[in-house]
Amino acid sequence: MKAVVKYEWGEGNIELRDIPEPAPGPEEVKIKVDTAGICGSDLHILHGDIQIPTRTPFVIGHEFSGIVTEVGEGVERIKEGSRVTAENSRYVCNCCRYCRTGNYNLCPERLATGYAFDGAFAEYCVVPRERVHLLPDNVDFTTAALSDPSACIYHAVQELTGISAGETVLITGPGPMGLFSLQYAKANGAYVIISGRENDNERLQLAEELGADMIVNVDQDNIVEKIQKTDEVETVDVLLECSGSQPALETGLELLRKQGKYTQIGIFGGPVTVDLNALVYKEIKATGSFSQKYSAWREAIKLASLGKINASKLVTHILPLEEWEKGFRVFESGVAIKVVFRPNENL
Ligand SMILES: [Zn+2]
Ligand SMILES: [Zn+2]
Repeated sequence: MKAVVKYEWGEGNIELRDIPEPAPGPEEVKIKVDTAGICGSDLHILHGDIQIPTRTPFVIGHEFSGIVTEVGEGVERIKEGSRVTAENSRYVCNCCRYCRTGNYNLCPERLATGYAFDGAFAEYCVVPRERVHLLPDNVDFTTAALSDPSACIYHAVQELTGISAGETVLITGPGPMGLFSLQYAKANGAYVIISGRENDNERLQLAEELGADMIVNVDQDNIVEKIQKTDEVETVDVLLECSGSQPALETGLELLRKQGKYTQIGIFGGPVTVDLNALVYKEIKATGSFSQKYSAWREAIKLASLGKINASKLVTHILPLEEWEKGFRVFESGVAIKVVFRPNENL
């Protein structure tokens, strides 16, 4: 079968290869991949600068959906023909304090599909049965393939931050994570401001379509002045930092009110220098958010089915696997918002 393989660590070292189809072992499920999305972390795999454990050679891709074609011994609930998506936690120890409390996204021994195990930029992918989620009939494969980032934001916004109706939320960075954060914040009844830069204009337009109350291009407008001049907003109650950039964090902390909530969602390229005295003087509650777990997946899929969260609007490019290089390029350049592959279709 065709597969996009990272064959050696370092910059690049990726190619489309013909590899054997995987077979499901006991308690595993084989999925014919319908749709698989490129994640920001896949760009870090491309450049060889990711901190999540990998084992080369491996097939990239962890955000996907498809149809079950075969199940291994001991799999009952999931049948051949089931429409599914799957979490990327592939191996966890089941013994540490995080696994035992259902927080297996934080297991120190966690190894993931698309990093340490073969992923979904391929015609077929095998995953453990306990990571598979059955899809409601009205959730299409494109939407389902974006369950992973949607669940990440469910975890960040619903499980870790908590937003009340009427609160003002500032989201810095209108990439896929920012656009999901916007939708979750709106679903909670918040007033939402989302900021980006000059090359984010299309993303900011989409943010407006998705219900943002205010969009700010920080290269054109002074965000502090613009927010303070707005009648309905006094201060920012919640900061969801989705850009992983130091200036965005600095401005966000400046705008955040005393006793406000700050959640870091974007990954910084390296160490950053920020004056954290704001946390002390303003009694800010700060948290980070990493990956997701079962509880977030279940709710993210339900909210897609209910039409509360729209994932497919984020997809700007649908490509065959043969065009993986183009996919990575348009995603990295910011031209695309979300790029997906359809490995089993001749597009
Ligand atoms: Zn991802
Ligand atoms: Zn563990």
